[in-house]
Amino acid sequence: MTAQLIDGNALARRIRAEVSGRTQALKARGVQPALSIILVGDDPASQVYTRHKVNDSTETGLKATLETYPADLSESALLDRIRALNADPQVHGILVQLPLPKHMDASKVIETISPAKDVDGFHVASAGALVTGQPGFWPCTPYGCMKMLESIGIDLRGKHAVVIGRSNIVGKPMAQLLLQKNATVTICHSATRDLKAMTLQADVVVAAVGKRNVLTADMVKPGAVVIDVGMNRNDEGKLCGDVDFEGVRQVAGWVTPVPGGVGPMTRAMLLVNTLEAAERAAR
Ligand code: NAP
Repeated sequence: MTAQLIDGNALARRIRAEVSGRTQALKARGVQPALSIILVGDDPASQVYTRHKVNDSTETGLKATLETYPADLSESALLDRIRALNADPQVHGILVQLPLPKHMDASKVIETISPAKDVDGFHVASAGALVTGQPGFWPCTPYGCMKMLESIGIDLRGKHAVVIGRSNIVGKPMAQLLLQKNATVTICHSATRDLKAMTLQADVVVAAVGKRNVLTADMVKPGAVVIDVGMNRNDEGKLCGDVDFEGVRQVAGWVTPVPGGVGPMTRAMLLVNTLEAAERAAR
């Protein structure tokens, strides 16, 4: 069997087109959806990510403002700026690019963002809303993974989903979203004794570890759906995921590629969350 690909680029294009349409409708009512992005310091990867976020937003009609500050900005100055953005009715989404410089407490910074504007979905109120099924913002990466599963028409009810990784921004919210769709969910992590025994039972595997070849063909049940969140570099320096793609595609029913899988979906879901924040504010 050769797995079908879940094309993240194509799906993200469709989602961006939907965002554009809804943004036009909101603008026609006099509301300009707006995202404020804060970047502290000069981490090169963060500079690239924030530039992408601004460009993606602009292309879909959202207004994005990037504020950059030197690495020695004080924590209290950053918190004051976030409070001012919280109070600004023209701003619907606030995103503080992580990682922050070491002298700042990232949790404190994230908790200062108003949950109504927490479009990254990292605030404890957003996490709590996700766990309890209340309206809130879902973190963009697991949200994008759910859209990918939806796109192939899989009914998750009663399916066994195995999530490898338990970070607050990917693994844990991913497991919650799968649970909401009535999957039976197993969460694996670095202390899991026999990962292969778990993944071999899975109808859906989500790998979110950050290590190459965490999931190989012998660990996958024939026909399973495999979502690869990982972003690593191979020996040639090329971007690759956590999944041994060439091996796993011989066994799985569906698989996401890296690049061109979860990455573009993460970017697209930030636009969806920002638009949603603006629509809620306009209601
Ligand atoms: P993280 O915070 O480092 O979490 C990694 C998780 O993997 C931890 O829960 C860890 O377990 C677990 N783990 C480590 N080694 C393991 C092993 N051998 N077997 C099973 N589990 C193991 O990373 P993250 O932020 O969740 O990100 C995960 C990956 O996704 C990274 O490659 C990251 O770059 C990528 N990512 C991609 C996107 C995207 O848009 N494509 C977005 C976000 C993240 P413990 O908890 O026990 O330490």
